[in-house]
Amino acid sequence: MTAVLQSASHLQSGMQAASDSAHSMAFEAATPPTRSAAMARIAGVRPTDYARTRNHIDGAVTGLSPYLTHGLVTLREVLLELLRDEPLAVNHKLVYELGWREFFRHVWSHTGAGIMQSLHSGPLPDDVYDAVLPDDIRQARTGVPVIDEAVRRLYATGTLHNHARMWLASYVVHTRQVHWRAGADWLVAHLLDGDLASNHLSWQWVAGTGSHKPYLFNADNVARFAPVHWHSPKSVIDQSYEGLDLMARTVRARLGPTRRAKSTAAEFPTVPLLHKSPPADLGLKAPDATTVQCLAGRDVWLVHPWALRAPPADLKKDALIIGVYLQEHHAVRPWSEARWRWVDTAMAEVTQQRWWVDSSILSAALQGAASVRSVDDPHVTAWLKPLAQLDPAPALFPSVDRPCTSFSQWWTRTTRGIHSAEELL
Ligand SMILES: Cc1cc2nc3c(=O)[nH]c(=O)nc-3n(C[C@H](O)[C@H](O)[C@H](O)COP(=O)(O)OP(=O)(O)OC[C@H]3O[C@@H](n4cnc5c(N)ncnc54)[C@H](O)[C@@H]3O)c2cc1C
Repeated sequence: MTAVLQSASHLQSGMQAASDSAHSMAFEAATPPTRSAAMARIAGVRPTDYARTRNHIDGAVTGLSPYLTHGLVTLREVLLELLRDEPLAVNHKLVYELGWREFFRHVWSHTGAGIMQSLHSGPLPDDVYDAVLPDDIRQARTGVPVIDEAVRRLYATGTLHNHARMWLASYVVHTRQVHWRAGADWLVAHLLDGDLASNHLSWQWVAGTGSHKPYLFNADNVARFAPVHWHSPKSVIDQSYEGLDLMARTVRARLGPTRRAKSTAAEFPTVPLLHKSPPADLGLKAPDATTVQCLAGRDVWLVHPWALRAPPADLKKDALIIGVYLQEHHAVRPWSEARWRWVDTAMAEVTQQRWWVDSSILSAALQGAASVRSVDDPHVTAWLKPLAQLDPAPALFPSVDRPCTSFSQWWTRTTRGIHSAEELL
């Protein structure tokens, strides 16, 4: 299953191009792609408010995920900064949530590409679910306000509150009986923080293929945690949990949009296009002969989209710092234009040149270098490992060697004997 690419007729539309570039500007204004913006955001985090309000759509969440996903900051740096203001217990809600990110990495490291398939069976066999995400969900016109609002917000900002992601995923899988993988591939492509472990494994958690039961929600739950325009009384989710559970476990005919869309298309958001290659005006190219010549005998530090930060202090002063986008990854994982621009702005900050390249051309280009180093990340390990020495991906929590199948199992092991968050540093 691949992420959805919209049609060529859309591609040609001026309205589409205007909308995609408006999204780019909006993303960069709301979430500037710089390390200083990330540090400012960390400085503004109030752990007590976070713990009290994090489940509310307008709660005091950190907004750090794009910075963490793309490696402008690490979990360790986040915690270090937080602890400058106040001590935190290791089981403080915020530390616990940072743990979820690392737990999903733990599962990915033990399961590899297996995270792309159901980890175990869910409420219904895999083949019962529709393999394609219906257009009305993608176009925010299901008629269920909470779902349409979530999709609109996703397109407008590139991010989404955790609770909204859970509602959206639960609606897709359990209400509409669409396979979690179709939803996961679509969402990860539009998110600015799209991370294969956190995203695909969260979808599996909601689907019940990575947890012991399906995650279900109803209209009362939305009314408790979301602003009024998200509320969805009298819609398909306005049911008891018993009713929802029965629905999730019963094979049924496909449900269409809740009500017929009576208004004009102008009311619906323009779905951002997804691109397998960077926008041409970014000027990203494969290395040419002159570039390759200037590499000869030099140390090289490679920066990839999952570690957009300055190189380590022990790198030689005259080392070349090169940004790389690996074509093999993007061929199966397209991004919105806004994400390409966001990542590239951050990459340009920390590199001397940036390449759009496949791994065989990259390997050939680096042949003459004295050394090639980078930092590991499972999104790119397969391509970078054969050609560079990889520093380990940064981690905050003690490594747990035994594969854990649940967060609580992993959490118990990784925090055994640890009481204060400071002990993690
Ligand atoms: C269906 C679904 C898809 C998701 N896809 C992604 C994804 O692609 N990338 C991604 O980073 N997160 C994903 N998440 C997890 C979570 O929703 C986001 O990390 C969080 O909403 C980001 O907002 P924030 O930075 O304000 O989070 P905060 O609540 O402020 O949390 C701080 C940080 O802790 C980590 N964190 C918090 N909650 C979770 C969680 N449940 N799982 C993993 N890490 C967490 C994140 O790094 C986050 O930035 C997904 C969750 C669901 C239910």
